[in-house]
Formats: sequence, structure tokens, C-alpha cells
Amino acid sequence: MKIYDLIVVGGGPAGIFASIYAAKKNMSVAIIEKKNNIGKKILVAGSGKCNITHEGEINYFLNRYGDHGKFLKTALYNYKPKDLVDFIESKGLKMQVLESGKIFPETMKSTDVLNLLIKELKKLKVDIFTNSKVESAKKEDEVFKVKTDSEIFSGKNLLISTGGKSYPATGSEGDGYRLSQMFGHSIEAPKPALTTVYVHDYLYADLSGISFKNVKIELYRDGKKLKEHHGDVLLTHTNLSGPGIIDFSRYFSKGDTLYINFIGKESDVISEELIESSEKNGKQSIKKFLSGYNVPERFLKKIFKILDIKEDIKLGELSKSDRILLINRLSRHEFVISRLGNFDIAMATAGGISLKEVNQKTMESKLVKGLYFAGELLDIDGDTGGFNIQAACSTGVLVAKSIKTN
Ligand SMILES: Cc1cc2nc3c(=O)[nH]c(=O)nc-3n(C[C@H](O)[C@H](O)[C@H](O)COP(=O)(O)OP(=O)(O)OC[C@H]3O[C@@H](n4cnc5c(N)ncnc54)[C@H](O)[C@@H]3O)c2cc1C
Repeated sequence: MKIYDLIVVGGGPAGIFASIYAAKKNMSVAIIEKKNNIGKKILVAGSGKCNITHEGEINYFLNRYGDHGKFLKTALYNYKPKDLVDFIESKGLKMQVLESGKIFPETMKSTDVLNLLIKELKKLKVDIFTNSKVESAKKEDEVFKVKTDSEIFSGKNLLISTGGKSYPATGSEGDGYRLSQMFGHSIEAPKPALTTVYVHDYLYADLSGISFKNVKIELYRDGKKLKEHHGDVLLTHTNLSGPGIIDFSRYFSKGDTLYINFIGKESDVISEELIESSEKNGKQSIKKFLSGYNVPERFLKKIFKILDIKEDIKLGELSKSDRILLINRLSRHEFVISRLGNFDIAMATAGGISLKEVNQKTMESKLVKGLYFAGELLDIDGDTGGFNIQAACSTGVLVAKSIKTN
């Protein structure tokens, strides 16, 4: 029976890049993939346009993975965003930088990226076994035995790169957690990340589509402030969305409270400005006064309605209690989280293989020699903007680099 130098379980970007760079070192490599083709998630990435990475410097990258960015330092320095772009371009697909530094193929087609990668794998003679779901794995006499329902594969080294649990239709259903536990690894409880947020008593269904630029979002649990984040917020038919919510969602739990500042100034500042204006020109309407702030008119109208305040009421006639209610709604609007968007719609998974048990300089298990992890399976999730695919590719390449060949 053939013994591969490296068996890769899961053909997402992490597994594909590990395979390409291992094969370049003349290692024999097999990818075992449960779906009928590899790279299903690459096809849906960036709505089918594939936001493959970001133009930011490594230091910028390290801050895009919540509290876990430090773990990626070696991987990202070893295989930088520029290395990824250069690699793809060297295979004939030009890349371009679009809004906020996101990098996409010029053709804006994920299929072009995936086809290029499959062509490269074939050129490097990587064996790809599709429709092959790995059920179990163990290490026996220094050889890894990887079992599907019909075959057993043998390898000197094993990479588990089965992704997280989000978008299960693409193949990532959390199998890798179970496989890793077979080797004694611990799992930080997986939960949806990069997802939308449902709140109790959501009142803005009719304002769907209205968005707010770079607003402050504060996260509270049991009355204590946990974190603060700035980003764009979108009101949808059913919930809160937009990059500011989606990128921050890795920290949210049911029952948490979000305070969103829709008006861009703190309550005490607006309060002072309102009182000052009222003293100078008490006949000015509240609507006119607030038009000086960058808040969508439809949202303001809705707030007036909710609070039962007449929009043409004069500043001088606005009661103190209404003033406080209004300013609070605009500068510290409270939302209590009822649930997060589930794994079917989340773009990433928070949690995964505990980083304490993985060597960040090699991606090798600290428990089992020759066992490696890469990609979203690890307890790392990045912001939107190309940070997840880059992390998957960089950790995959680091695996290939770390395996010693003799
Ligand atoms: C809708 C959507 C859009 C996204 N857009 C972007 C974007 O534009 N930019 C970005 O950076 N990130 C994006 N992401 C996130 C990014 O796609 C993932 O973080 C990335 O694909 C993770 O790579 P991976 O190789 O770790 O895992 P995956 O890509 O999930 O690949 C894991 C592979 O393992 C296989 N597998 C699982 N279990 C088994 C098993 N038991 N046996 C054999 N094979 C198995 C799966 O079938 C799959 O092919 C997006 C995600 C989603 C859901």
C-alpha cells in the first residue's frame, strides 16, 4: 500500500495550499475530500467574486482576527498577502485592489481562482480523492491511517484542514473537530461568526436597507462593558447587519446588549448642543436641528414616531424627558440580542482546535508528531475583507514548509 508523505483531509484553501507547496518540495500528497469537488467555499467567497486577501501590512492583518491574531504571526510573515497575489498572478490570473483594500481577481470570478488551483495541483501530481468522507484517523507504528467508508489511506504526515461549521453545504460540517479529538485534541466550542444579529423587539423592518457609516457599537454582558467596535451598520427586514456587526459578531452571545451610536456624537455633547441651540433659537424645530447631523431622515422620522415626539416641535418646547429619550435613542440605542444568525448563514466559525495544543511556528500538533492543522478548523476567525482565505493559505503553506523531508 502506498504511503504518502502527506495526507490532507479537506480540500479548501488551507488544504490546497499545503498540498501545492508540499508537492513543490517533491513530497507525495493526497487530498481526501468529501464533496464531489474541492474548493466549494472558494466558489461562494465574496459572493462568487473571491475576495482572496487584503492589501494591508502584516501588522494590520494581525489585528483582524479578534484576540487570536498573534497566533498567525509566523504563518503570515512566512506567506504574506503579496506572496499569495504573486502566486496567483504567476499562474496567469491578474488581481486587483478594490474598496477598502480588498483584493479580488480582475475577472471577479471565484471559478477562475479555483480552476487555476486545480490545474496547479494536477501539474504537481497531487492525488485528489473526491466523494471521500474521512470517518476516522489514527497513528500506528509511525504511520497515519485515514479511513473513509471505502478505503484506508496511509501517510507519514497528516494535515486536518476540514474547515469550521459554517455554510455546511460546502462540506464544512465540523467533522475535523471529531477527527482531532481522536488524537486527544481539545475543541473551543464552535459558534457562528461573521454573521447577522437578531434582537428583541426589532422595530426597523420597514427601514430595511438603511445603513450608517462607521458607528460606535458597544457590547455589554451582565451590565459590564466587554468591548467596543467601530464599523458600518445595516438595518435589514429582520435584523442588524453590515460589516460593523458582522465583524464584531464573534464576541456576541444571546442575552448580550449592544449600544449603537447612530449619530456620531456622545449623548452629553448632543445634549449640550441642543440646549445651546434651544437658548439661541428656541423656535427652531427638532427636525431642523437634527438635520445638521449625519442621520438618515427616514430613521429620524421613525424614532420620532416610536417616541411619540412631533418632528416639528420647537426646541424650546421639547420636554427634558423627551430630550433625554431622543438623544439616548440616537447616541446609545439599546438592542438586546435574541440570537445570532446560525451556521447556515455565518461566513465563519469562531472556536475550533484549541491553539494551546498547536505549535504556531509549524502548525504541528503539540500532542502528536506529524499531525498538522490549518485553516478555519483552528480557533481563529478573521474579519470580512479577505482575512480568512489568507489565513487558510498562510497556515497551509506553513505546514508544507514545516514538514521535514529526507
Ligand atoms: C458565503 C461565504 C463567503 C466568504 N467569503 C470570503 C471572502 O470573500 N474572503 C475570505 O477571505 N473569506 C471568505 N469566506 C471564508 C473562507 O471561505 C473560509 O474561511 C475558508 O474557505 C476556510 O478555508 P479552509 O480550507 O480552512 O476550509 P474550507 O474552505 O471550509 O474547506 C474545508 C474542506 O474540507 C472538506 N471536508 C470537511 N470534512 C471532511 C471529511 N470528513 N472528509 C473529507 N473532507 C472533508 C470540506 O468538504 C471542504 O472542502 C467566506 C465564507 C463564506 C461561507
